[in-house]
Amino acid sequence: MDATEYRIRGKELVDYIADYLEDIRERRVFPDKKPGFLRDLIPDSAPIEGETWPRIFADIENVIMPGVTHWQSPHMHAYFPALTSYPSMLGEMLSNAINCVGFTWASSPAATELEMIVMNWLGKMIGLPENFLHRKNGSGGGVIQTTASEATLISLLAGRWQAIKKYKELYPDAENGEINSKLVAYCSDQAHSSVEKAALIGLVHIRYIECDENLSMRGPELLQTIKKDRELGFIPFWVCATLGTTGACSFDNLDEIGDVCVEEFLWLHVDAAYAGSAFICPEYRVWLKGVEKVDSISFNPSKWLMVHFDCTAMWVKNSLALHEAFNVDPVYLQHEYSGLAIDYMHWQIPLSKRFRAIKLWFVIRNYGITGLQKHIREGVRLAQKFEALVQSDARFEIPAKRHLGLVVFRLVGDNIITETLWKKINSRGNIHCVPAIIKGKYIIRFTVTSPRTTNEDIVKDWQEIKTVATEVLNEWTPGARPRVPLADTKNRNENFGTSLLLSNSPMSPKIVNGSFAAIYDRDDVIAEYSKTIKLRQDAQNSPAMRRRIKGILMSGKQFSLDSRLDLFHGIEAGTPSPSEGLPPLEDYNESEDNGSTFSGEFEPNEPNDDFLQVPNAPKQKRSKSVDHQVPISMQSEGYTTCKKCGHQIITIQK
Ligand SMILES: *Cc1c(COP(=O)(O)O)cnc(C)c1O
Repeated sequence: MDATEYRIRGKELVDYIADYLEDIRERRVFPDKKPGFLRDLIPDSAPIEGETWPRIFADIENVIMPGVTHWQSPHMHAYFPALTSYPSMLGEMLSNAINCVGFTWASSPAATELEMIVMNWLGKMIGLPENFLHRKNGSGGGVIQTTASEATLISLLAGRWQAIKKYKELYPDAENGEINSKLVAYCSDQAHSSVEKAALIGLVHIRYIECDENLSMRGPELLQTIKKDRELGFIPFWVCATLGTTGACSFDNLDEIGDVCVEEFLWLHVDAAYAGSAFICPEYRVWLKGVEKVDSISFNPSKWLMVHFDCTAMWVKNSLALHEAFNVDPVYLQHEYSGLAIDYMHWQIPLSKRFRAIKLWFVIRNYGITGLQKHIREGVRLAQKFEALVQSDARFEIPAKRHLGLVVFRLVGDNIITETLWKKINSRGNIHCVPAIIKGKYIIRFTVTSPRTTNEDIVKDWQEIKTVATEVLNEWTPGARPRVPLADTKNRNENFGTSLLLSNSPMSPKIVNGSFAAIYDRDDVIAEYSKTIKLRQDAQNSPAMRRRIKGILMSGKQFSLDSRLDLFHGIEAGTPSPSEGLPPLEDYNESEDNGSTFSGEFEPNEPNDDFLQVPNAPKQKRSKSVDHQVPISMQSEGYTTCKKCGHQIITIQK
């Protein structure tokens, strides 16, 4: 493609994009596709000769759009918003054209300096204290990271570095690894899974502090746990407070937690990924009380502020800790102003850095502070409207207070009723939501996600939910399925009741099929099923089932509960095979049977009383968002150790 064609195609694409966004309401928000659908639509190797643009362009509608979840749709209510805007898109276009890789000041001075200035703007917009801003002779400042997860990890690593340094001053003979193994991080039981991930990567222990009835982590509980850990010889070093949790948008008590961290010399990080955007409105800064005691804070303008992904704003009070934790400084990257201007490579994990400040700059200038405040307040108003609609219907309840643009709701009654409602709503594709479990209650999250959302959209969505609810409640006859009382559930897994499950969420690796079994430990599920399983001729004779089971076994990766149940159902008596029409696992290709450690068909043709028998295992404790990871193969037997957490897992015996 040459410049002449680019001028034409570029303009066409801009028109296509504007049409897409303005008419997005007409598209089904959640695609009606099964895993692997794209494989049938695209050749399995690249074209030898280049193709013309019109052919490529046509495939946007033919191939891509049918499989897109339309995040910009007003009927998208899942996760948190990931908004964009026209000025942001123009900024991205320009940044893509410049395509500089601004790791040092000299590698593109405007990229570094604009980022410093715009991060100061944004810091002031949300009311951060001066010492978080870039100042002459100051050590604070802001940086744009890729994601909130990365900001959390960077903060943890900086805190770790500081803790190790301090400890070594006291005990000069201690080894880094030895100190590291004693470090403990803390967060609330509502914190995002990325906090746990950061602790896993940093090889530090993590403790979940149980929240109060408002789903808020409080100072006294945190302090108590820290003291207990010190007595046991651990080294508490880092706390992540969440402002606007993913489950119900609850807020930790920053003021109390800040006092604890100051007194106990812990690095305090704030994860305000979603709610941070709202702090541009002074009325929402109540939650920021105590921010002066914080060491690092981040939020995602890429969520609610119409600056599109990726853009995570992060500020630190003491950038020296980042420098010392990350500074490698090879000679080839030095320049004559080294040390005078900022080199952002020391503030982040990768060396290279996109020119992201430009889209943030365009958005802030084009909307102005008042324009952005108006956008936030409108989102909150629409959520309030939805909340009022839910409250007007006695069949529903709102089990956690609404904050900002997120309403969580459920049908009064057993969890399974709300779960059925959620499944039906999503399968109809008119609106898209994700569930969560909060204090033992299954809830559906409803976030207002689009700047295009109108009153009419909200009313229409509520109509859809009501219609489906009526259907579900009519169908639902109590006693039709075995119920598991909550007390029984808690007995089986003590973590249930405080865990946060975001099904199908790219933010969380956990996959929940939603049946009540999802909250059981795997060992329990296997033990239960093993009592009832009988091998049946029809399952043995079904090639589809054999393929699927083989696929599951060969994948060698963490099973979703759905896969585990399919494995069981495939050899369970009586029921029609649920595997019919199911696609193979995404990374399982039927034509690629070679090279696998699993050889031969799975042929359960010897009904054996011992098959899948599992001895009673001692109950395992586990963290709230980890599934044990063991490679499952039919060859292994006895015990295996979970790669992630070190627990002993019983594997299936052949
Ligand atoms: C969305 C979210 C995250 C993850 O954000 P990424 O930028 O995708 O890493 C982390 N914490 C909270 C509270 C969130 O809402």
